[in-house]
Amino acid sequence: MHHWDDDIDEAPTAASAREETRALQELRAIYRQADAAYTPFSCPASGECCQLSKTKRQPWLWYPEWLLLARNHPLPPPREDGGCPYLDAAGKRCTVYAERPFGCRTFFCERIRGPARQPADTVSALLIRLERVSQRILPSLTGPRPILEWHAEASTQEQP
Ligand code: SF4
Repeated sequence: MHHWDDDIDEAPTAASAREETRALQELRAIYRQADAAYTPFSCPASGECCQLSKTKRQPWLWYPEWLLLARNHPLPPPREDGGCPYLDAAGKRCTVYAERPFGCRTFFCERIRGPARQPADTVSALLIRLERVSQRILPSLTGPRPILEWHAEASTQEQP
């Protein structure tokens, strides 16, 4: 089993700012390709899949995915309803939509509309690339982490 605490030695600062910026550029390219693969599909955008405690599922992020959010958006407080902290106040819309994680781009519930088959091969290939990008800047992270774990850790670090 993977224990995050085991990996703390190699802090995110292990990569230079330049390497991180390059990783984020690659991440955006991966996101663009994921979006392109899902262009033929549509969903009702109800925000229900972002109610993480209700669905008991959450997106799992590699480090560059979290870095993109952490660099470009203020850390939101946790939501009392257990929803993703990046939901808007009404709990309907993602406030970081353009930079939402890979799992949020590729997850659809049974109400998805579009071709019969989802682009599973493309998603797998992009995930391999994503892992490689992450391991370049944080080699100690051997698996993605749930968004609420990243968020809770960052919230603790922000406390005075
Ligand atoms: S990041 Fe956005 S799309 Fe992903 S779970 Fe949170 S609110 Fe939903």
